[in-house]
Amino acid sequence: MVGGDPMTQTRWKCPTCGHGLLAPTRPRLNDVRRYCLPCSSKSTVLVERVAPALEAQRAKRNVAQRERERKARQQERDRKHRANNTPRKVAQRKWSTVGEYDMNIERETSRLWKLFAKMPPTMLQASTAIGKSKRLDPPKVAVKQKNWNVDREGRTWSSGALGYAYTSQHRIAVSPKVSWVTLAHEIVHCAGYHYHDRAFYNALKWLTETRFKTSIDYSKVTRYGYAIDRMIEQQTDDIVRAEFKKPIELKPD
Ligand SMILES: [Zn+2]
Ligand SMILES: [Zn+2]
Repeated sequence: MVGGDPMTQTRWKCPTCGHGLLAPTRPRLNDVRRYCLPCSSKSTVLVERVAPALEAQRAKRNVAQRERERKARQQERDRKHRANNTPRKVAQRKWSTVGEYDMNIERETSRLWKLFAKMPPTMLQASTAIGKSKRLDPPKVAVKQKNWNVDREGRTWSSGALGYAYTSQHRIAVSPKVSWVTLAHEIVHCAGYHYHDRAFYNALKWLTETRFKTSIDYSKVTRYGYAIDRMIEQQTDDIVRAEFKKPIELKPD
């Protein structure tokens, strides 16, 4: 064992001529054994001896130090990864772009918006921009980050309203996992149908039927309101799921 005790001796070697001798592991700065005098006399500077055992020990310490630093960096990366992947953050990332059945919210909004161009002119709200030009950009949709509940498994649900249309700002806020009908409902508001009246629900019915090439049965409707949304949801659930839900990939054994 070298180092520590100042009285411990180790072998010092001249790097030029290889001549060695024993000297303390920590010789004083002016200890003559630190230097190879024959080689120094042939040089313009003092030629210092080196202690191979001490060098090896230092190299070992450096390796251990680098290993500690590498582990610390890895731990920091792991910590950040865990912080960015809490069930809440994972759910927020997932449900901020897709709705129920993994529907792509932005793509669907754009698609539904374009359908208004095909709407019979008598059904369009002529006073609105889309009624006049049919060329307005689709509304911006944001998934509300407030009122989220996420459990330990990352299951997400929302308290409060499912969707809200800020028609004057041409934007929509929806809850996570928004259903197709709720998204379509808010888009209809943005197209200029402000009240839950006959015109509104006729527009929603037309949009649903045109989008999915199906027909919606309104025969049991007695009054206009959210019950109709739920009714459309029931009538289209299979179609909507088939449209958006990617089939589960079967992995071969
Ligand atoms: Zn020498
Ligand atoms: Zn509404």
